[in-house]
Amino acid sequence: MHYKRVLLKLSGEALMGNRQYGIDPERLNDYAKEIKTLVDKGVEVAIVIGGGNIFRGVAGASKGMDRVQGDHMGMLATVINGLALQSACENSGIQTRLQSAIKINEVAEPFIRRKAMRHLEKGRVVIFGGGTGNPYFTTDSAAVLRAIEIEADVILKGTRVDGIYTEDPEQNQNATKFDFITFEDVLKKGLKVMDTTAFTLSQENELPIIVFDMNTRGNLFKVVSGENIGTKVNL
Ligand code: UDP
Repeated sequence: MHYKRVLLKLSGEALMGNRQYGIDPERLNDYAKEIKTLVDKGVEVAIVIGGGNIFRGVAGASKGMDRVQGDHMGMLATVINGLALQSACENSGIQTRLQSAIKINEVAEPFIRRKAMRHLEKGRVVIFGGGTGNPYFTTDSAAVLRAIEIEADVILKGTRVDGIYTEDPEQNQNATKFDFITFEDVLKKGLKVMDTTAFTLSQENELPIIVFDMNTRGNLFKVVSGENIGTKVNL
């Protein structure tokens, strides 16, 4: 396999499948099976899961809720998704640990970097819940932060689009896809890959990001084997 240790970022919305809200168990099981194909090949897999299918702090704030309060709800939502993903992974026969950035010890291990790395070395999938543990951040930032901390080779951003386009492909049919693009060009062209905080953290630490379509079976495996799927953002 091309990459030895990967950090997979899954948005909360990805877990909804075709629903408007919440978690689609079938989608979750599909993802677990995809992840297992990597584990079976000895790839070390860490996952950061979002919470947008349940709650976003900004949405609460826009309706008059205190932003920090809303962000706390969002972070708890990621823990709920983490638990669901952990269940699905274990049903697929993958040993999994959930580590949370906010202490919730009866439910998940606290985030401890060395412990997370040990789990990975033992072939366990580590799911990071709770985002960064701080309000005003996103799970994209958590994904980059954790990837750097655990010395992952790459961040795999699994989405429903198959890469980065010149324009939004869902809005404009003439949009064309990049196979490779530099961090600098993404910023220059004003393309949206992750929020700015997450993106610059990745750039500063020279950590490549691959954006790919997670909903096509076998894609995750292809990306990790080094096949040119999606768009790779590099220096
Ligand atoms: N969140 C936060 N700090 C973090 C990560 C997440 O406060 O480090 C909150 C924030 O309110 C965010 C919500 O959790 O809106 C869900 O995360 P995100 O929107 O990143 O999820 P995704 O878009 O990936 O589903």
